[in-house]
Amino acid sequence: MDRKLNLVRFVSVERMMRIVGKRGVARVLTDLAACIEADFRRWEQFDKTARVASHSHDGVIELMPTSDGRHYAFKYVNGHPGNTRDGRQTVTAFGVLSDVATGYPLLFSEMTILTALRTAATSAMAARHLAPRGARTMALIGNGAQSEFQALAFKAVLGVGNLRLYDIDPEASARCARNLAGFGFDIAICGSAEAAVLGAQIVTTATADKANATILTDNMVGAGVHINAVGGDCPGKTELHADVLRRSDIFVEYPPQTRIEGEIQQLAPDHPVTELWRVVAGQAEGRRDGRQITLFDSVGFAIEDFSALRWLADEAARTGEYDELDLLADPDEPRDLFGMLLRAGAGPAAAHQRPREVCETR
Ligand code: NAD
Repeated sequence: MDRKLNLVRFVSVERMMRIVGKRGVARVLTDLAACIEADFRRWEQFDKTARVASHSHDGVIELMPTSDGRHYAFKYVNGHPGNTRDGRQTVTAFGVLSDVATGYPLLFSEMTILTALRTAATSAMAARHLAPRGARTMALIGNGAQSEFQALAFKAVLGVGNLRLYDIDPEASARCARNLAGFGFDIAICGSAEAAVLGAQIVTTATADKANATILTDNMVGAGVHINAVGGDCPGKTELHADVLRRSDIFVEYPPQTRIEGEIQQLAPDHPVTELWRVVAGQAEGRRDGRQITLFDSVGFAIEDFSALRWLADEAARTGEYDELDLLADPDEPRDLFGMLLRAGAGPAAAHQRPREVCETR
């Protein structure tokens, strides 16, 4: 067998940055929004399952699998709000795209940057169906790692040019504004969340705290606003007061997952919600009128990562921005796996070592 068939393409952080640099971040965000929208339109073709979460005191580690019958993908992702205190990211991720017919991985990739891109692209795609027509001003509350991506996606997909930033850490807002200089925004840094939402037709919340926070209270949300709630994505981790939810028409990705993880964990398990894919596919209404409050209760779903990995596989092939990983054992005769080990020197004459305790629990 041609050895090359068994080498898996790997996109490192360095390669990912080059891919985004070559295409331009705005173009990447519109590409991803289009890919995600196309996959939402064929939602029924996918295997769907709520992600598998392992919770701990400080955060969560999750696996997110899905397949459309041709390709299979999964992402490993964590969420640890305290990480930034000692120089680590709140969210990091990597993922795999595989060929269903052989089960062989096709692509292995960093997904920390890709998650920020796909989350922002999904938010903007949802807002295109839900936000008031002609919305140009967005409040962006929580100015951490996701924030610039969110701003740029809303500009690229909807033409949002005015940003009103707020973060409990003023340095985070200052950095966000600095990073976005040159992208054509009109930016105001605000002293409170109440000030940030003034005059905004879209409100994005992207804060990180392992708590039931109340970033938005009922009195802060006027008629006609679209809320893009990104930060509440774990049991016990929400951003909106329940009264805001009760006044809103709520749109979600995959209800069995969002009812556990999203803002709607605060509501009765049968509180009506609309699946976003139905709006995208023309089976349900998005925004009906100018006074309606719409809420995208985003938690992040596996199909968005699947779409992003498929986009990346094409982009990596087009640009040559990948390395090849020796990840799959590849004996000349497929059933002679042990023979391959023997030929590599693991025969009976290999060095004998004194027996020692192995696999001790430390
Ligand atoms: P981050 O830690 O880099 O940034 C969070 C920011 O929120 C920080 O700057 C912090 O100072 C600020 N903040 C915390 N409490 C606040 C408050 N009460 N008011 C205003 N600002 C406050 O985190 P990040 O990577 O930008 O992620 C933001 C959130 O989005 C996290 O909760 C993360 O889990 C979530 N997330 C969701 C998705 C999704 O698909 N829905 C994807 C990625 C991340």
